[in-house]
Parts: sequence; C-alpha cells; structure tokens
Amino acid sequence: MSTNWQCPYCHHHMVITGQNYSSTIVQLNGRSVRGQRPALNVTSISCANEKCKELTIEVRLGSWDAGGRNGPHIVQGSTTLERRLLPEATLLALPKEIPDEVQQTYREAKLIAPISGRASAAMARRCLQGIVRDFWDIPANKRGNLGAELNYIKERIDPGLWDDIQAVRSVGDIGAHMEKNVNEVVDVSPREAGILIQLIETLFQDWYIQRAKRQQTSNSLREVLKDKRSQQKAAKQRSTGETDQSDTPQIEENGQPGLTA
Ligand SMILES: [Zn+2]
Repeated sequence: MSTNWQCPYCHHHMVITGQNYSSTIVQLNGRSVRGQRPALNVTSISCANEKCKELTIEVRLGSWDAGGRNGPHIVQGSTTLERRLLPEATLLALPKEIPDEVQQTYREAKLIAPISGRASAAMARRCLQGIVRDFWDIPANKRGNLGAELNYIKERIDPGLWDDIQAVRSVGDIGAHMEKNVNEVVDVSPREAGILIQLIETLFQDWYIQRAKRQQTSNSLREVLKDKRSQQKAAKQRSTGETDQSDTPQIEENGQPGLTA
C-alpha cells in the first residue's frame, strides 16, 4: 500500500510503506452480544522523520472475516468503535508565557473529549475565560462573569471571531451547569467538543503565537535599524574628510529616511 499520511506528533508528511506500517487482526471471544466474530484491527505507523520516529497506534472494533488473499480482515461497514491509542491527543505546543492554569485546562479539555463531550466543553469554556483574562489583561474590577469580560473586549475583536467565542461560551455553559438540572439532558458529542477546542487553538494561534512572532520581527527590525545607523555613522565619518556637505539622508528615530527640503 502507499498512502499519504501526516504524523500527528510532528506534522511531517510521508508516504506509508510496508516498512513503517503494520496491521494486525486480534480475534476476540465470540459469545457476547457483539456477535460471533468480534475482532480488533490494530494498526501502527512509525514516523519516518528521523527527529521524531514516534509511533501512532489506532484500533478498530468490528467483525472479522477470513477473507481472500489478504487474510483475516474487518468486514467493511462492521466497525462499531474506533480509537487512536497513541498519541492520546494532538496537543498544540504552547508558548511559555501562557499561564500554567490555561495550559492545563486546555490539555484536560482535549484529553477528556473522547470520553465526555460535556466535560470537555466545560473545560473549553473555562480555558476561554483564562485566555480572555490573561491576554486582554482584564482589570480586577471587571472580572467575574465571562459575559461581562467578553463585552469589555468586544470592540477590539474581529466580529466573526466574536461570534465564535460566544458559541464556545454558550455550549460550554451546558457542560459547566449540567449539575443544575439533572433531569435536563442536553448532551455535547465528542465531535462537537472538538470544534470548541479548535476555536481555543485558533485563539492560541491568533493571539499568543502571533504576538510572539510580531515581537520577534519587531526585535529583528530594531536590530537591522541599529546596524544601519552605525553603518551610516561610519560612512559619514569616512566621507567628512572629502566633503563638508553630505547628501546621505538621515535615518530618523521612526525608521524613515529624513526628507531634505
Ligand atoms: Zn513524526
């Protein structure tokens, strides 16, 4: 087989070959309501990236069949459960300046999603509040209710993103307040929880990671400017002996060449 595949650990793209791929059928006991031929299909892929070489493991539960020349396999359409065992979740590598509490809440939201969508949604909402407070530096007297905190920053957020944030808040409320009315069953599926987490990851990317990148570019620009200034100074010193009037425009504080009238 040759299939294009992306490593969930390092995001390296590679072609799956027989050497780094294995698929095994594990036959299970056939006396349960799961049918007479239940089996697990365990597949594993080793990443070809030398710096990563991590193992990805996936399992599928279905009914097995002895089948044709490919040997025992899971009958098409019989899969009732599908799980990735490794990696447990694909977590975004977060910059250090994000508070530990926010990082921890994000990890929990992600890891619990396959088991409880509601719990994950509640954690995603909590994570959202932590991000908003920290990134926008909400003053102590404005803190308390997430709705009020969001209103405080509304003018500074892109309207589309604002709507998405409100959606995470509302769905998260279902998970966060599930103890209020135990008879009121509103579920959140793992897939839905995954969408909330995607928005949280977008905020990490758009806010923290972009800010860190901008800061880096800004520092580099300052370095370039400093370098150019000293080069200009040196050039000027060299030329003063030759002529009194220099035509070289001065680089000013704001980085723009000065205009000479
Ligand atoms: Zn990898």
